[in-house]
Amino acid sequence: MLSAYITHADCARHEMGPDHPECPNRLTAINDHLLVKGLLDYMHSYDAPLATFEQLCRAHSPDYVQEILDASPKEGYTRVDPDTSMNPFTVRAALRAAGAAVQATDLVLTQGVPTAFCAVRPPGHHAERRTAMGFCFFNNVAVGIRHALEHHGLERVALIDFDVHHGNGSEDILQNDPRVLMCSIFETGLYPFSGENSTAGNMVNVGLPPRSGGQAFREAVESRWLPALEAFKPQLIYISAGFDGHREDDMGNLGLVEADYAWVTHRLMEVAKRHCQGRVISCLEGGYMLSSLGRSAGVHVKALIGAD
Ligand SMILES: [Zn+2]
Repeated sequence: MLSAYITHADCARHEMGPDHPECPNRLTAINDHLLVKGLLDYMHSYDAPLATFEQLCRAHSPDYVQEILDASPKEGYTRVDPDTSMNPFTVRAALRAAGAAVQATDLVLTQGVPTAFCAVRPPGHHAERRTAMGFCFFNNVAVGIRHALEHHGLERVALIDFDVHHGNGSEDILQNDPRVLMCSIFETGLYPFSGENSTAGNMVNVGLPPRSGGQAFREAVESRWLPALEAFKPQLIYISAGFDGHREDDMGNLGLVEADYAWVTHRLMEVAKRHCQGRVISCLEGGYMLSSLGRSAGVHVKALIGAD
């Protein structure tokens, strides 16, 4: 059975104005790179469905979901925070992005699809239960996780977040849910300036100072993430895959390179093979320098589909 590549043309129609780094070309850069590398030959492509109101409300308050649906402008932009705006296509793109995580969950849990990569935008990990922020509206990965837990009845799901920014939204939604283990590594002193003082028992947060580099990142994975994952024994692993920690990406200064993204994906695949029949679902988060985004997503997907 082929791995799944889930995306939708609607995800490229959402845009937040000229020169905004979270731009439609991010998806083109990834798609082009996967095509050139022949990786899409190993994957089945799916058009992401629209997430339903009920699916979204497993991660967000109903009032908030309705507020976002109602805020769609007829033309121009509706500003949600200083960095985050809606155009007339944003709602559909956001529903597709969350719907992709739901579809990936269904495919992996019921159709024998081993792994899935959701090439979607807007991203999701800054979206809190009641707040849109940091380019995010609905928390795609949290919607997928709650679907796995509440629709499919899973008891233990892990979320791994290696975006350079702390996934405050995922933590807000999933903290103190004993069915979820969230492991993250992020750069300290960077937006959204959270994550270092988490008290929830199901959060494994590692803040690394700027310019830590790949060696410190790998050591944190080995000393903090892997033991927690081994003890938790997840039935399914989700990844919030942000590639803005790459040294060519101006959004952060962790100094990672493609080899680090390949390495961490391989380590996670090993955990998945031991505990959850290799089932991993990855959802795109950040990554704004188009060339390094394409290359980083390429090595990540290659490891995810076992093509190397
Ligand atoms: Zn980020």
